[in-house]
Amino acid sequence: MDFELTDEHKMFREAIRNFGQKEVAPVMEEAEETGVFPRQLFKKAGEQGFLCPRYPVELGGGGGDKITECIMVEELNRVNAGIASSLMAQSGLATQPIYNYGSEEQKEKYLIPAIAGDMVGAFGLTEPNSGSDAASIKTTAVRDGNDYIINGTKIFITNGPFCDYVILAAYTDPTKRGEGINLFIVEKGTPGFSVARKLDKVGNRSIETGELVFEDCRVPAKNMIGEKEGGGFEQLASTLLSGRITYGARCTGVAQAALELTVQYAKERVQFGKPIIKFQNTRFKLAEMATSVDVMRTYTYRVAWMYSEGKDVSVEGPMVKLFTSELLQKLLGDAMQIHGGYGYMMEYPIQRFWRDGRLFTITEGTSEIQRMVIANRLGY
Ligand SMILES: Cc1cc2nc3c(=O)[nH]c(=O)nc-3n(C[C@H](O)[C@H](O)[C@H](O)COP(=O)(O)OP(=O)(O)OC[C@H]3O[C@@H](n4cnc5c(N)ncnc54)[C@H](O)[C@@H]3O)c2cc1C
Repeated sequence: MDFELTDEHKMFREAIRNFGQKEVAPVMEEAEETGVFPRQLFKKAGEQGFLCPRYPVELGGGGGDKITECIMVEELNRVNAGIASSLMAQSGLATQPIYNYGSEEQKEKYLIPAIAGDMVGAFGLTEPNSGSDAASIKTTAVRDGNDYIINGTKIFITNGPFCDYVILAAYTDPTKRGEGINLFIVEKGTPGFSVARKLDKVGNRSIETGELVFEDCRVPAKNMIGEKEGGGFEQLASTLLSGRITYGARCTGVAQAALELTVQYAKERVQFGKPIIKFQNTRFKLAEMATSVDVMRTYTYRVAWMYSEGKDVSVEGPMVKLFTSELLQKLLGDAMQIHGGYGYMMEYPIQRFWRDGRLFTITEGTSEIQRMVIANRLGY
């Protein structure tokens, strides 16, 4: 058993860390304030193979594995969770269905430009009345000659307001719950596809999140992912499973940043004549936080490794998401507590990580849903 990262992984970490400092850090404050995503980051990351690091080099990807993708996600989340999530959507949800199930034409037209950062993708599953119960979506795609006519509304869609295409889940056969779903690639500018509104969020303010509406939106049948009607739920499940592992890296990155900020603050803040890091309570809390970060990272990498080896991670994937996102809540609470009143002030960066990290037990399957999936899979 070897728990060491390879030299390639270590070099990649160094490179993506530099990218985070050089390209993301200088633009993040403005993105947080304005809620406008610095779109140029897609191209900058794409050019260097950072945007989709686990896809093959022949497609413009980084040629790495799932651990490589986790390193990218962790390092970018250390800098800014909002920006990281926009880029991470591209490396996973918004490209993986095409990579795994798409036609050669779809790969040429959407996947390769997305990997290069020339196109921005989004993934549209959630609807106003259908979140955790994904099979209850109401969006439909009705065949009409060589096209499908799509009607429905998608909400909370990351990159939705400025995406070039969205991978959309819709029922081709609403009588077959779950089974009757297909995924479609819908391009921006297609008549009937509009961004109804950009949503205002508590955290992750640098990502653009939107509500998308499809009204008699005519999409060529060749934009359906997969060759036959039905079976889209399986494509969704495998895409979400991979994302649950990546989510471990997202949590680890935020946890690492919160730990570093808290150590620094505890060394600087003086009360009762000494830096608060000298108090046993502070040291114990910091020790627990450091332990949490290490366990989060180690478990994430273990499951990422299993995934890359082609092993079944249908239990471990949701375990990663559940464990890391829940542990993160405790860690962020402690980080905030050690910062005292200053931590609650907008001028101290810990508040941003605290707000951003709160999301992580909710998106891409809530903790309750992860528990349900784990218990089902284990036959409890
Ligand atoms: C910032 C942000 C970005 C997002 N990005 C995307 C995106 O790009 N694409 C996309 O498709 N979606 C996206 N989502 C949607 C996200 O995945 C959903 O919010 C999430 O799946 C939960 O759905 P919901 O919000 O409708 O909550 P609900 O499903 O309404 O759940 C509400 C509460 O009820 C609980 N609950 C529900 N069912 C059960 C049950 N059976 N047993 C016990 N408890 C239950 C939930 O755990 C939760 O606590 C995003 C959301 C946010 C906030």
